Amino acid sequence: MRVYILSRNKELYSTKRLVEAGEQRGWDIQVIDYLRCSIEIMKGELKVNYKGKELPVPDAIIPRIGASRTFYGTAMVRHFEMMDVFSTSGNLAIKRSRDKLRSLQVLSKFGVDMPKTIFASNKSSAKDVIALSGGTPLVLKILEGTQGVGVVLVDTQKAAKSVLDAFYGMDVNLLVQEFIEEAGGADIRALVVGGEVVGAMKRQGAEGDFRSNLHQGGSATAHKLTRKEKSTALAAAKAMGLGVCGVDMIPSKRGPLVMEVNSSPGLEGIEKSTGLDIAGKIMEYIEKNVTPKSDTTKKK
Ligand code: ADP
Repeated sequence: MRVYILSRNKELYSTKRLVEAGEQRGWDIQVIDYLRCSIEIMKGELKVNYKGKELPVPDAIIPRIGASRTFYGTAMVRHFEMMDVFSTSGNLAIKRSRDKLRSLQVLSKFGVDMPKTIFASNKSSAKDVIALSGGTPLVLKILEGTQGVGVVLVDTQKAAKSVLDAFYGMDVNLLVQEFIEEAGGADIRALVVGGEVVGAMKRQGAEGDFRSNLHQGGSATAHKLTRKEKSTALAAAKAMGLGVCGVDMIPSKRGPLVMEVNSSPGLEGIEKSTGLDIAGKIMEYIEKNVTPKSDTTKKK
């Protein structure tokens, strides 16, 4: 089996673990920096070149595309898919998951619950938007933000109005959301691989922060999902069409609410907190879906 991990950095925990899990199976597994790949297109012929030379066609790819490189990265994933290469996450699904607004629209359509969300242009009145979202406290999310940056909790009507006016004045795309206070700064991340939950952790925000992101100083522990959390995670992964993903949910009085679905979930937090071999689960998913075109298994 020949597998490429499309990643910019060999040294990342997740990349290293995926390489390890592939090598354990005797596979030819390589890290390919997708920014150093070029796409070649001619009539009836699609090729990928790496550092100027044609790259042998793999049996599968594992995309680990950085948020700031979504356009180029997903073009590369699409190219491999057009060459009949199996991808653990499809290019369209990755693209969809990168857009918070689009994700929520898709999730809603598939019956997945989320905090009530309002999206309005900068021509609308801040007062109307606040009223539509259910009033303060509320959460503002800059659409282009990741890892908790650009997620703001606003307590009072007065503050909400001035912050909204400021953002709208700067023409920033903004989601306005009801604040789920009972989540208590905790969220649950479920790792879904090939339609199965393979691990889950609970992240608790740093003292005094309502955001649970590990990048914002949160901490992670293993978590046993409730039945409802499990079915929500599976429904969200299915709605987004992602073979491998991390579903972020916050607990609420009306059940788990999905925040977002991450198409390149980090493996460090989840493997270290649960002790599970998630990288191995991703390889099993490939094994189930791919018949290798050539036997590239290294002789031991
Ligand atoms: P990012 O994509 O930047 O991580 P999220 O939308 O996931 O942004 O928000 C970051 C964190 O903030 C969430 O994991 C959650 O802990 C908290 N949070 C986000 N939205 C809400 C909300 N509506 N109510 C309560 N907490 C929230």
